[in-house]
Amino acid sequence: MDADALAALRAVDRDHVWHPYSSALTPGDPYVVESAEGVRLRLRDPDGTPHDVVDAMSSWWCAVHGYRVPELDAAVRDQLGRMAHVMFGGLTHEPAVDLARRLLDLAPDGMEHVFLADSGSVSVEVAMKAALQFHLAAGRRRTRFLTVRGGYHGDTFSPMSVTDPVGGMHSLFRGVLPEHVFAPRPPAGLDRPDDDPELVAWERTTRDLFSQNAADIAAVILEPVLQGAGGMHVYTPRVLDVLHRLAREHGALVIHDEIATGFHRTGPRWAGDRVATTPDILCLGKALTGGYLTLAAMLCTREVAEGVSVGEAGGLMHGPTFMGNPLACAVANANLDLLAARDTEVEVARIERRLREGLSPAADLASVADVRTLGAVGVVQLREPVDVPGVTAAAVARGVWVRPFRDLVYTMPPFVTADDDLDRITDALTAAIADVHG
Ligand SMILES: *Cc1c(COP(=O)(O)O)cnc(C)c1O
Repeated sequence: MDADALAALRAVDRDHVWHPYSSALTPGDPYVVESAEGVRLRLRDPDGTPHDVVDAMSSWWCAVHGYRVPELDAAVRDQLGRMAHVMFGGLTHEPAVDLARRLLDLAPDGMEHVFLADSGSVSVEVAMKAALQFHLAAGRRRTRFLTVRGGYHGDTFSPMSVTDPVGGMHSLFRGVLPEHVFAPRPPAGLDRPDDDPELVAWERTTRDLFSQNAADIAAVILEPVLQGAGGMHVYTPRVLDVLHRLAREHGALVIHDEIATGFHRTGPRWAGDRVATTPDILCLGKALTGGYLTLAAMLCTREVAEGVSVGEAGGLMHGPTFMGNPLACAVANANLDLLAARDTEVEVARIERRLREGLSPAADLASVADVRTLGAVGVVQLREPVDVPGVTAAAVARGVWVRPFRDLVYTMPPFVTADDDLDRITDALTAAIADVHG
């Protein structure tokens, strides 16, 4: 792209194109990405200078095999030779049925029915709707959800209503968002002992809150073990045990939102595999298509599916236009093949070791409050909000693409990232923080 074309593109972008959470008054200055291959993005910075950078973000948890992956490209091309899309009402097709069967094989025990949605937020909408319909069909008017503070479940209204009240800006939407039940954020740390006083106090508060509201609670919704966009917060699986038990005691369902944590991002295939009990409803997305196309899934047990279906509505009341999109399903199937062929759990363990070692010097920086690693996720938490343009530019200058938020500089690299590129990521993040924040 020549300098004039680049300038024209940037001008239209700045004047007319929304970006995530962007302002029309102070639109920011995005990098232009021209192409991507392997784990590298080819960028133009705001001055027009080209950079080949290692992607430390997997395009927000998605591109687990990197870019222009031959097997995934081929899956899309093959499917294009048949059909790109058809409606899912009254029709079905092999890519969707194959995907459903394979997801059920991989999912925790008990999952029997799959709803193929077009984005993660929609899968959470559908999960919440299914929980409401399940109770309504049985004559119970349970209309609230219980969750913990600090979570993130998407940006449409129902997922936003169970997202952290501060991070999710509930005050902005007061009167529009339903008011759900928020337990405190679980104390930090995967390995916190069960008798730890903070954890015991959390349990007591949560148990009381649950029993006070039990008659209204349709379901508990959680990101197991790792809260993602709500703050990259890691907590002990004991929290899942406690909430599963309380839900059973009080007749509420359990929804696991594994849109970010699924497909081995935290180590095991599902973050919820760390406990013996299984959810009633599971949401998947993000890495489901290896980052190629937008697709998500809501899985549920036979009990939930049949409970929903006996109600007066006669079925689950949702049906997006692009439900079960064949291109997306075909590439999701190819993605599952790759994950199985590559011994992903071993790859993630390698990344975890490398990130832990590589990020440890960051803990010595004056600006750094905490450094933590879980699976293929490495997090550096600062003592102040990150200067996002500053840290981004400093990392790009060192050959790495990173997108910090709030007080967090973090990486969740593609699973195929080689050791030297992981070192490049951890060195660049540490140096960028040191440069900008000290
Ligand atoms: C990203 C995310 C969502 C929302 O998915 P979209 O595809 O962006 O709608 C929901 N829950 C969790 C845990 C997520 O990380």
